[in-house]
Amino acid sequence: MRHLILCTFGILLSLPLWAQSNSPVILIKAGHVLDVKTGQMLNDREILVQGDRIRSMGAAGSNRDFKGTVIDLSRATVLPGLIDCHTHLFLHPGILEEQATKETATYRTLIAGVNARKTLEAGFTALRDLGNEGADFGDVSVRDAINNGFIPGPRLQVATRAIAMTGSHDDIKGYNFELHLPGFSMIADGPDEVRKAVRTQIKYGADIIKVYATGGIMTPGDEPEYSEFTEQEIRVAVEEAAHQGRKVAAHAMGPQGIKNAVRAGVASIEHGDLIDDEAIRMMAAKHVYLVPTLTAGDEILKSPNLPDFALRKMRRVADIQKTGLLKAVKAGVPIALGTDAGDFPHGQNAREFALMVDVGMTPLQALQAGTINAAELLGWSDRMGALEPGKFADIIAFEGDPLRDVHVLEHVHFVMKGGVVVKNDWAR
Ligand SMILES: [Zn+2]
Repeated sequence: MRHLILCTFGILLSLPLWAQSNSPVILIKAGHVLDVKTGQMLNDREILVQGDRIRSMGAAGSNRDFKGTVIDLSRATVLPGLIDCHTHLFLHPGILEEQATKETATYRTLIAGVNARKTLEAGFTALRDLGNEGADFGDVSVRDAINNGFIPGPRLQVATRAIAMTGSHDDIKGYNFELHLPGFSMIADGPDEVRKAVRTQIKYGADIIKVYATGGIMTPGDEPEYSEFTEQEIRVAVEEAAHQGRKVAAHAMGPQGIKNAVRAGVASIEHGDLIDDEAIRMMAAKHVYLVPTLTAGDEILKSPNLPDFALRKMRRVADIQKTGLLKAVKAGVPIALGTDAGDFPHGQNAREFALMVDVGMTPLQALQAGTINAAELLGWSDRMGALEPGKFADIIAFEGDPLRDVHVLEHVHFVMKGGVVVKNDWAR
């Protein structure tokens, strides 16, 4: 018996890689593969996909006599699936308050499913969806429907309701006291309520906790530099989330709120528009990610139909944000790509790359922000962010060289998620 097992094992090892398992195998012939870690462009590569994983990557001809499905991407450039660390699948461009008060959670969940598919087809195979803005726990349902194979979409980490203080940027303000409107976030005040909110959100399926540390742009009655949750309140959120293996993302624009959140131990600062030198030093020292969401700002400034308060606030912070971001990059603050999709149409997430380059990041830095860095922020470096054996076969392809022109990422023609082809314009 032992002899038989050893013999079988020996025969198995002598077989080529593609023949060593019963799961379906696909051979991708790639014209160019960009190694996102080094910036090196590798020509004529073969990527062997087995089941949902990458099995090997080698030079052309390394899988001789291959018998299985071959996908010819020999005229294309291939990258790992892109990752957006700040989306809102439950929002669409327009006035936030109207969506939360006039659209049912069911309607919004259905639309979020469509948005998930659009984002995947644009080459984004994983998202951190940072707050459904009042749609119950619909994002948990969208995530589960994707994971169970009912609808196509990226791999999701969801924040459910997010948590904010009474009167926060993410609370509905400006109405008669007698009116009890649904609101965007779960409102909590003081450490005990914050603790309960974190536990409740995790109970109902949150993968990540989002807190509001400052005011913001898209709701009336607050300013980006206003501090909201105290350091103590955020610290409780971080502790409680960590007990159950979750990270905390902080919406933070003003410098005081950014520092409160960094001292409290959050994993990422979202937006960071008014970041100052001290906050930059603190973030670099603690390896806290900055997720700039430049596309949202770009869109707001181009949207004549948004309320005056949003335009006024965005105009005031836009240039300051760009200067701060470049300083942060130079100081070694880790940057992860996030867009705030929902403030602009879903599926246009790749606009963020060119905006990062406009600010002064190199194309490779921008690409790393949307792949390996984003994977690290999600805690998923073991399964995505680079094309390596053992990682998910999340693979995209497009024409052109993104190191010369990152706009090419806005036209992705091929998307594979977990070894399944989601889109292939060239096969039509
Ligand atoms: Zn957002």
